[in-house]
Amino acid sequence: MQQMPCDLFSRSLAFATDMLAKTIGVLTSGGDSPGMNPAVRAVARTAIRKGVRVFGFFNGYQGILDDDLTELTHRSLAGMLDRGGTFLQSSRCRAFYTEEGRQTAVRKLADHRIDGLVVIGGDGSLKGALELGKLGVPVIGLPGTIDNDIYGTETGIGVDTASNTIVEMIDKIKDTARSHRRCFLIEVMGRNSGYLALTTAITAGAEVAVVPELRYNMPRILELLSSRYRNRMGDSIIILAEGVCEADDFIKRMQEAGGDQLKQEIRKTVLGHVQRGGRPTHADRLIASRMGELAVLTLLQGERNSMVGLNKGKLTLVDLDKVCSQKKHLPTDKIRLARHLGIEIGDAVEL
Ligand code: ATP
Repeated sequence: MQQMPCDLFSRSLAFATDMLAKTIGVLTSGGDSPGMNPAVRAVARTAIRKGVRVFGFFNGYQGILDDDLTELTHRSLAGMLDRGGTFLQSSRCRAFYTEEGRQTAVRKLADHRIDGLVVIGGDGSLKGALELGKLGVPVIGLPGTIDNDIYGTETGIGVDTASNTIVEMIDKIKDTARSHRRCFLIEVMGRNSGYLALTTAITAGAEVAVVPELRYNMPRILELLSSRYRNRMGDSIIILAEGVCEADDFIKRMQEAGGDQLKQEIRKTVLGHVQRGGRPTHADRLIASRMGELAVLTLLQGERNSMVGLNKGKLTLVDLDKVCSQKKHLPTDKIRLARHLGIEIGDAVEL
């Protein structure tokens, strides 16, 4: 059982019963994702409307430890809705992995009279939020991720923008692939999740998606490529999730397994950080705004230690404990769709 710091704990209790919370904090943590700015804006605007002061911490959890914060006002939020990245900036804060670091953060939050905190970030950031919650800080998390690897929500803030960026890039690459009958291997983000690779293979019209959740079938990939080559459709697109291996490594595996069977030249494109950037799409601005609003409304009603998720079109609150302990699986309907469309995506891995 974790010891609760007295003063903050009693303030938290007051927060739960007193609907008129005075001050909340918001931060963005981990890898940036397009839509974090609209989320912060929605948190701040909703709080201000409700008569609550709102402070933005810079550089994620590091900002709490460094007392690096600013009061958010309508003026300071101007022009943020359509900007990618996060104006609050983000970081990976090593001190937060330690009990001591988190205890310091709790003290600092109390010093600044922060009654509740909204954390926008990926699965690691939400683990940090869960730990803060255990120390008595009322926390609501928002899934800020392009990987879409967070349990308890069908999508994260930034997934739509990143997916659109990937599709736009692949559309361009396909022009060259078609003109030269080349095979392009495109590495996309997703350390533990093949969501981006799978869904953009569907929407960009790729022939193959290689994802960490399924075992790729090299003989079938090679047969697909050579049959397309024989039929004068030599252009092929393979989308590789970075979690499987690096693009060069996968090309080497193809060459070793393919030998003379592999007729096309294979080129690689590693999309890298271009996937994180750019103006958030309408869908990401909307989901970020909806989630930001709900985070504040629920905090004001005494809700804590939850993440706002999107499930079956509705916003839901999911226990952070559950979010951080469960693994999100690839959606089976998208796997089925990919198979029906003729995309080679590999086989289920037996447990
Ligand atoms: P992305 O999905 O883009 O990697 P993320 O939020 O998962 O984003 P991480 O680097 O995993 O990125 O986590 C961000 C920060 O959250 C860490 O630098 C650390 O400060 C905090 N954090 C992560 N995991 C934990 C944990 N288990 N306990 C406490 N804090 C954590």
